[in-house]
Amino acid sequence: MTVSKRISLLGSTGSIGRQSLEVMAARGMTAAALTANQNVDLLEEQCRRFRPELAVLTDPAAAADLRLRLADTSVRVASGTEGLEEAASLESADTVLTAVMGMVGLRPTLAAIRAGKRVALANKETLVCAGELVMDAAARYGADIVPVDSEHSAIFQCLQGCRDRREVRRLILTASGGPFWDWPAEQIAGATVEQALRHPNWSMGAKITVDSASMMNKGLEFIEAMRLYRLPAEQISIVIHRESIVHSLVEFRDGAILAQLGAPDMRLPIQYALTWPERTPGPAAPLDLLSCPPLTFCAPDLARFPCLALALEAARRGGAATAALNGANEAAVGLFLAGKIPFGDIAERVARALADAPRLPEPGLEDILAADAAARRTAAR
Ligand code: NDP
Ligand code: MG
Repeated sequence: MTVSKRISLLGSTGSIGRQSLEVMAARGMTAAALTANQNVDLLEEQCRRFRPELAVLTDPAAAADLRLRLADTSVRVASGTEGLEEAASLESADTVLTAVMGMVGLRPTLAAIRAGKRVALANKETLVCAGELVMDAAARYGADIVPVDSEHSAIFQCLQGCRDRREVRRLILTASGGPFWDWPAEQIAGATVEQALRHPNWSMGAKITVDSASMMNKGLEFIEAMRLYRLPAEQISIVIHRESIVHSLVEFRDGAILAQLGAPDMRLPIQYALTWPERTPGPAAPLDLLSCPPLTFCAPDLARFPCLALALEAARRGGAATAALNGANEAAVGLFLAGKIPFGDIAERVARALADAPRLPEPGLEDILAADAAARRTAAR
């Protein structure tokens, strides 16, 4: 099997997007398409360096600006969510790396699957909202979905060579606990944007950094794991591991536990999602066991991190509840980042939206989009 070489990178200006371009440059992979929301300056720079066939800015005014700026090149510029879907299904791409933030990744992910691409998936919100639809479509069209999220990549790596999923007793997701893990509840509720954005181990986009502080991120990852590996909630657990060196583990039915370890560097899981099943040299430095800190593990505290408790509730309910959870959280985190609500309100707003969410065990795409929209409205009220 050959290592994939031509990539449509959705969200190229973000934290994952920029690290993906480093991996691609180091491995001599080319870009078929690069996309962003409105960051014209950086996308122009990336297009001049990587010369994709297509560049997309979802914001139409920003796209018009980029078109003028790239007039001296052969790069075609498109806009809107149609532009994203086109980037996801370009004939010349073999792999689509979805690193956009939020539920906006759903339609392009489905487009990539229908076009039979390998999907290297960083965009966890898509699986949280519509994981069953996405995984069913991938099975129908024979598209591989390879996770980029470090925990899911760790599990994916531990499962290589496991021929029968019934051998898996449980998945163990590790969580850093974020910046507030040892803070009292009242202090967490009043945390500022600046405090929430100070993650101890990872440098990431603003939304996922806030999700890490509330531990909603681990809740979203719990649901992501259920969908990716088609396991019930009872077979997934979460442990706090402050050092972020053990990226996750799989316990098998004979009692053996496999783990994947590494320094916290997203370029490794990004690269593996692009080169799997091969392993190649790359920019990520290996972990030095002799200088790494002692590895510690403890149980999460659901009382101080109500967002995690809400996500576990949505996971157990299934159906449209996870789309409502995610939509409400995206809206509430947006309000928090804009300085409009206190940190503690994120969980309250998500709880309200989850309580109102429709009980639909097998939602279709339209049901999911409706549950998402309703939850965003409830959370914004
Ligand atoms: P960033 O906020 O850094 O980047 C988001 C990217 O998506 C940017 O390119 C942005 O464009 C684009 N984008 C944002 N909104 C829209 C929109 N409405 N339409 C189209 N494009 C949009 O996020 P991250 O890179 O941190 O995260 C991306 C995804 O990867 C998330 O789902 C996150 O949960 C997941 N992930 C991230 C990890 C990390 O280490 N960062 C780790 C594991 C998972 P623009 O720059 O123009 O705004
Ligand atoms: Mg993660």
